[in-house]
Parts: sequence; C-alpha cells; structure tokens
Amino acid sequence: MTTHDHGSDPSASDCADFLEQIVYFIDNELDAADCAVVRAHLDSCNPCLERYDLQRTVKSIVARSCSEAAPDELRQRVLLRIREVQVRITDA
Ligand SMILES: [Zn+2]
Repeated sequence: MTTHDHGSDPSASDCADFLEQIVYFIDNELDAADCAVVRAHLDSCNPCLERYDLQRTVKSIVARSCSEAAPDELRQRVLLRIREVQVRITDA
C-alpha cells in the first residue's frame, strides 16, 4: 500500500476529525466502537498513522520528563518532526 494508491482516499476533513480522535485514542478515552473506527482509519491512512506514532512518542517523552527533564535537543527534534508531518498533512 503506497500513498499514491488509495482505493477510497479519506478526505482532508475526515482526517481533521480523526486527528482529534487520535488524541483521545492515545489517552484511552474512546469507547470500543470509536476505537475500532479510529484504528480502521489509521490502517488505511498513512498521514494519520504517522501523526498517531508522533503523538504517542511525544506523550511518552512528556511522561518521562516528569521524573527527568527531557534533553532540549530531543525536544527540538520532536517539535521539528511534528511540524514536518503537519506540513505533509495539510499538503495532502
Ligand atoms: Zn487520515
């Protein structure tokens, strides 16, 4: 599956909705039905999957930085990655 070969390409507005859901998904605040919907979308939508991975990474870094300060360099790199993915999403 490549980004150029979607059978049913999700629309950008769909993705915007899912990006919000992804935050709740990571926090385990969705019920089982919504979880299944988000998971299905992540399976078929690469930008959202990347966004999901990124959010999870950021969350774990933030969680870790509660006990130990996250290195500034690492934080900068993560912020840079977020911007890259956001650009790609708005571009698609
Ligand atoms: Zn999507």
